[in-house]
Amino acid sequence: MKTKRRRASLPSITCPHCQSVAAIRTSESVSELLRQLRFRCENDECGHVFAADLVVVRTIVPSACPNPLIRLPFGRTARTANDDTPIPANDDRPAAAEIAPTPS
Ligand SMILES: [Zn+2]
Repeated sequence: MKTKRRRASLPSITCPHCQSVAAIRTSESVSELLRQLRFRCENDECGHVFAADLVVVRTIVPSACPNPLIRLPFGRTARTANDDTPIPANDDRPAAAEIAPTPS
């Protein structure tokens, strides 16, 4: 039986200058939780090349083979960076500083 191979589509975002599609060209691992992506705008008249960070921020389904060095908060929703709502005292989530990757 012959199976049809589908071409994987690469993730893309909008170019911040011209709002056209910008596709990932390369990526580089910075740490277990951080990968830096290099995008190029597909509008030939623009040609903007830029970098963006892809950061693992939380666990939705726990790993079956967890790395003890990786500690991520659980949850389906993320707290925004400017959310100053205090976390209840009985919440054992690690502080943001403990999970934030340190760029090199
Ligand atoms: Zn552009």
